[in-house]
Amino acid sequence: MSDHETNLLPPDWAFEFHGHFCPFMPLGYRMGLLALQRMGVDREQDHTLHVVCELGEGHPQTCLIDGIQVATGATFGKTLIEKTFWGKLAATFWYPGKTAVRYSLKPSFLDAFGTQEFFAYRKKGIEPSGIPADVTRKAIDWMLSQADDDVFARTDRPDFQMHPPKGSFNKSLCSVCGEYVFERYVRMQDGKPVCIPCSGYAR
Ligand SMILES: [Zn+2]
Ligand SMILES: [Zn+2]
Repeated sequence: MSDHETNLLPPDWAFEFHGHFCPFMPLGYRMGLLALQRMGVDREQDHTLHVVCELGEGHPQTCLIDGIQVATGATFGKTLIEKTFWGKLAATFWYPGKTAVRYSLKPSFLDAFGTQEFFAYRKKGIEPSGIPADVTRKAIDWMLSQADDDVFARTDRPDFQMHPPKGSFNKSLCSVCGEYVFERYVRMQDGKPVCIPCSGYAR
């Protein structure tokens, strides 16, 4: 591997966090690094950078999202990443004052990637943790050896805007269950504050 490729490889702690050794987490990591570079911003420490992923659920390759979070610091816990549930391998990165950018995986790249032995194991129903590490490593190395332009399609999205809700520390006790509920989510029933589940799940 070249130095360039080594720098694109996620740190060991990312694989520990992710739980298994696979090629799609590193691919998401690479996408995240590219987006940061394109927008000229650093890995997010607090709550500014947002990512909107177009992936869904019940399809492969959603591991991408963990790599994106690792690279960008736009984590689920900081409410900086969301999914549109479109079942597409793409994500838009947004930072106030910068031009938002969307990256998608090129079909030609995915078709070629799919011929890696790793995917033969996956199609037999073997989970990534059960696939020999050298087989997985080969898929990762091949992916890293491909040029950015061969892997990703990029679109600048100057009109893309997000309006994250303002954070608030205000909370109330639910008059039914007695648990705290943050202000945005308090519902009123008979003039008393209730949480959403106690209100009958009406949103
Ligand atoms: Zn994975
Ligand atoms: Zn309640």
